[in-house]
Amino acid sequence: PATAPAALAVRDVTVRFAGLTALDAVSFTVEPGSVHAVIGPNGAGKSTTFNVLSGVYRATSGTVHLGSTDLTRLAPHRIAGLGIARTFQNLALPPHATVADSLLLGRHRLTRSGFLASGLRLPSAAREARLHRDRVREIAEFIGLEKELELPAGILPYGKQKLVELGRALCMEPQVLLLDEPIAGMTADERRRVAAVVADVRDSLGISIVLVEHDMGVVMRLADAVTVLDFGRRIAGGTPAEVQNDPAVVQAYLGT
Ligand code: ADP
Ligand code: MG
Repeated sequence: PATAPAALAVRDVTVRFAGLTALDAVSFTVEPGSVHAVIGPNGAGKSTTFNVLSGVYRATSGTVHLGSTDLTRLAPHRIAGLGIARTFQNLALPPHATVADSLLLGRHRLTRSGFLASGLRLPSAAREARLHRDRVREIAEFIGLEKELELPAGILPYGKQKLVELGRALCMEPQVLLLDEPIAGMTADERRRVAAVVADVRDSLGISIVLVEHDMGVVMRLADAVTVLDFGRRIAGGTPAEVQNDPAVVQAYLGT
């Protein structure tokens, strides 16, 4: 990131759908270079939170700021352009693209001229393309997939495909990475590997991570801070140890 890392501040965000309040005056702050987990039972508002942060849903009221920049009313591509990258709960990779091409897709927002114009400005475009390829290789090494660069992403085991998706988001050089259930459906080995990469994204790259994850063991090990939602409300927040022992959290998860 070119600028100093900034906090992502969610202030009193309410999201209403017809007849339903999916988020009710929710506030939390994601500190720079931290993993902030958002947890809660099904229907609590976790995906809605993600959709607000990435601009897919518009908050009915409340604000979202990255540092001093107000993101609240911005379109998804503007928010992505400001350095907030997301992955999706379900895989969203082009099936026949190689790992390298899939990662290159993440560079698109960073191209000066865009893909269409690149043919008109050959020398600089060629140099730009080389820089992007170099960065793609570095990121492939970071996620441990440098040997798979020229393979179709679609033939890789599920866990590696999810790493490609994470790598594609990293290729956007984000300040904040939004991860929606990054280890769901994985083998134990895959879960360990992805969790290690996520920790490394924070520790080595200094990127903030907002993590929605059901596996409490992983949340407790990885997260620096946790926000707990239930029926659209923030019912608890703090360190993993603090929320784990919070009676409101225990009650929400026991489903009383
Ligand atoms: P979670 O991800 O925590 O399981 P969601 O954020 O997906 O929960 O959903 C929170 C509530 O908002 C649920 O009751 C859900 O049915 C509702 N909801 C989510 N998205 C929409 C939508 N686009 N239209 C109507 N209701 C929605
Ligand atoms: Mg969800």
